Amino acid sequence: MKLLMMGPPGAGKGTQAKKIVEDYHLANISTGDMFRESYRKKESLGLLAMEFIRDGHLVSDEITIEIVRRRLFVNHVEKNFLLDGFPRTITQAEALDEMLEVEQTKLDAVIQIVVSDAVILNRMVGRRSCSICGATYHVDYKPPQKEGVCDACGGVLYQREDDKHESVRNRLDIYKEKTKPLIDYYDAQGILYEVNGEKSFDAVYRDIQTLLETHL
Ligand code: AMP
Repeated sequence: MKLLMMGPPGAGKGTQAKKIVEDYHLANISTGDMFRESYRKKESLGLLAMEFIRDGHLVSDEITIEIVRRRLFVNHVEKNFLLDGFPRTITQAEALDEMLEVEQTKLDAVIQIVVSDAVILNRMVGRRSCSICGATYHVDYKPPQKEGVCDACGGVLYQREDDKHESVRNRLDIYKEKTKPLIDYYDAQGILYEVNGEKSFDAVYRDIQTLLETHL
């Protein structure tokens, strides 16, 4: 199974993706996580990418396509995966289709999580991430048991630079301009499925499960 999760920043994509990959045994390919990991390891790619990420800009298509290509198609060809946060531009989508075509395969489904801007802004300014394992919390809706500390690993929680208000606005604008055209791109391929992302986490997850079980 080859899936792609789409939706504006803060739509809950990442959290849903983590549960889907567990339940369906898929490799979780999150370009955001890959960039952050590379940055933590102080690799030149990660340091370069963070310059863009910090301001809420997209990392260049060239760097992004290359990091995905290496992860999915070099050394070991990944057969079952879920893409989260890639592609974000038409150029990236076309590059992905070409890479899949070489392997004589294609995406099975694109799940689009739909959430309004107002709901997203409210969710994102309260989001906190673990500096060690990357788990995410919300100061109001999903607080950790002990303030500022990750329940899963005890790591320190922090607010990602790109979760600050101005950066979120910027990312929403970029999403509309660069990423939304992908919705038409995948709709034209007949593999786009919409899910209402304003419901609770469990309700959204159930909708995704139903969708996968009905269509795949
Ligand atoms: P995410 O964790 O998916 O929200 O990604 C965090 C940041 O990483 C984004 O705001 C971008 O700056 C960068 N990024 C992640 N994926 C991509 C992509 N496919 N293309 C360009 N930049 C990306």
